[in-house]
Amino acid sequence: MTTVRVCLLALLVLLASGGAANSPPRIAIIIDDLGYRLDAGRRAIELPGPISFAVLPGTPGARSLAVRAFERGKEVLLHLPLQAVISDRNEEPLGIRLDMTRSEFNDTFAAALTSVPHAIGVNGHRGSLLTRHPGHMRWLMEEIQARDNLFFVDSFTTHESIAIKIADETGVDARKRDVFLDPDQHPETVVREFERMKQLAVKRGSVIVIGHPYSSTLDLLERELPKLEAEGFELVTISELLRDANATMSYKTEASQKSVELQHLLAL
Ligand SMILES: [Zn+2]
Repeated sequence: MTTVRVCLLALLVLLASGGAANSPPRIAIIIDDLGYRLDAGRRAIELPGPISFAVLPGTPGARSLAVRAFERGKEVLLHLPLQAVISDRNEEPLGIRLDMTRSEFNDTFAAALTSVPHAIGVNGHRGSLLTRHPGHMRWLMEEIQARDNLFFVDSFTTHESIAIKIADETGVDARKRDVFLDPDQHPETVVREFERMKQLAVKRGSVIVIGHPYSSTLDLLERELPKLEAEGFELVTISELLRDANATMSYKTEASQKSVELQHLLAL
């Protein structure tokens, strides 16, 4: 093998490895369902580090909690109610339903966004029905895309969600939730899911985690968040993770194109 070939091969391995082996596993945590219980919402906002908060629009505490989170330097998301398979008798205000026309949809989305000041992204509340429907998901992504710099996090309440696929097709920055910290409120469940979150972060390099302002969740996060850095993890904002995921993706696309070019060279 010629020296040129050896050099090309080394470059190929380097590009394929992605070059990010030394960065610590990253964790982005979103606390959602903020808007009703002001005491729990305020306690959540005091959590240390770059935690993000998803606020239900049209709720009594929506504006004050969103402003409070923003003033504490936290990121705010619109926690948009999307219709679920099992309908809720106490339906959330400003929710998106399947029977809406496009103009009702647009008006509701705009009102929801206005009711949560400082929102820089959107994630869904419930949504097990609506996230399976390509028509409404496309409307949602088009409305997100029409507003500069908004992104979408799929809460992934059903395995049939097509939200990410439609977001990709529409050019919206989006990623799906990896772990729910509190599928139930038992302290041992939250401890178990927090450990699973760390294992997944090590395995995948980064994770998106959603929790709720339950006392068991807040107790655990107040206790464990300050230890994460010493344990070798990096807590990051949701927007940072999405931005980097996109950067990594374009880097990888670029790298794989270069790999193809280099493979052609090696084949000569
Ligand atoms: Zn929710």
